[in-house]
Amino acid sequence: MPVKGRFAPSPSGRMHLGNLFSFLLAWLSARSRGGSMVLRIEDLDLVRCQPAYAWQLMEDLEWLGLDWDEGGDSAASWQSNRGNLYASSFDRLTARGLTYPCFCSRIQRLNEAPHIHEVSPSCPCALLTAEEAAEKAKEKVPSYRVRVPHKVITFTDWLQGNYTQDLWTDCGDFPIKRSDGAWAYQLAVVVDDAAMGVTQVVRGRDLLSSTPRQLWLYEALGLTAPEFYHVPLLLAPDGRRLAKRDADLDMGVLRQRYTPQELTGILAKMAGQRETAAPVTAQELAGDFNWSKVPREDIPVEPALLA
Ligand code: GLU
Repeated sequence: MPVKGRFAPSPSGRMHLGNLFSFLLAWLSARSRGGSMVLRIEDLDLVRCQPAYAWQLMEDLEWLGLDWDEGGDSAASWQSNRGNLYASSFDRLTARGLTYPCFCSRIQRLNEAPHIHEVSPSCPCALLTAEEAAEKAKEKVPSYRVRVPHKVITFTDWLQGNYTQDLWTDCGDFPIKRSDGAWAYQLAVVVDDAAMGVTQVVRGRDLLSSTPRQLWLYEALGLTAPEFYHVPLLLAPDGRRLAKRDADLDMGVLRQRYTPQELTGILAKMAGQRETAAPVTAQELAGDFNWSKVPREDIPVEPALLA
């Protein structure tokens, strides 16, 4: 089966070294197997995401020599334009009795970081009758959750190995639509990866714990799940993970300091593909890319890089 990978950035800031590290691995994984790449802009949260960041990101990827075959500047690959697809999947789940309106305000908070470690206990709204829910809906626009079954999901991540989660106790009914109408990451990512024919997902390890939820959604929607590779995060010397707000290692700074080949060399060493950080192109790395050399654990960034 032909390999298809993807870049799925949220344009909420300039890319940093950590984003770039996962994007390089996603690109190498697909290209080294003769596969294609799609670039999908994950701009579901219209408050935090800005088109200018998406354009900048495309330019930054091109600068580094990371190309794609589909998506990018085509409007159809921006999640903000794909609401109809999410709505029809939502309707299919609803027709099977798998969604319910939630009137709790906590959900607002949970959604502030839609895919990062949200652990939501099952919600009392799960027990409302249709009449009670209709009554409440007169006062407040609900958000929606999916009802998870008592089910233990185990899957094999191609880098991290076996991972198990009990949907009921470790996760609970999770949000799929916000009360302001925004679709949740968990639903959109599954619908899109399936619709775009993505066969492998390479992304940060922080999303490992979201994967069982996504696998369950694939199953509930009758879709085929891709392979997953959850790659290490890059850590600042004080142990915190690099984030977009830490502008010290964002692409603006990196592009002033390094050539594309120098930066790729630094990333290649961190990714276990080269002994030294000597300059190299992404294309050259694809020639002998080897997943078994990629570390599993998070990687501290050498202090010299931050100096
Ligand atoms: N858009 C997400 C992010 O930028 C990544 C989602 C994914 O790779 O599944 O963190």
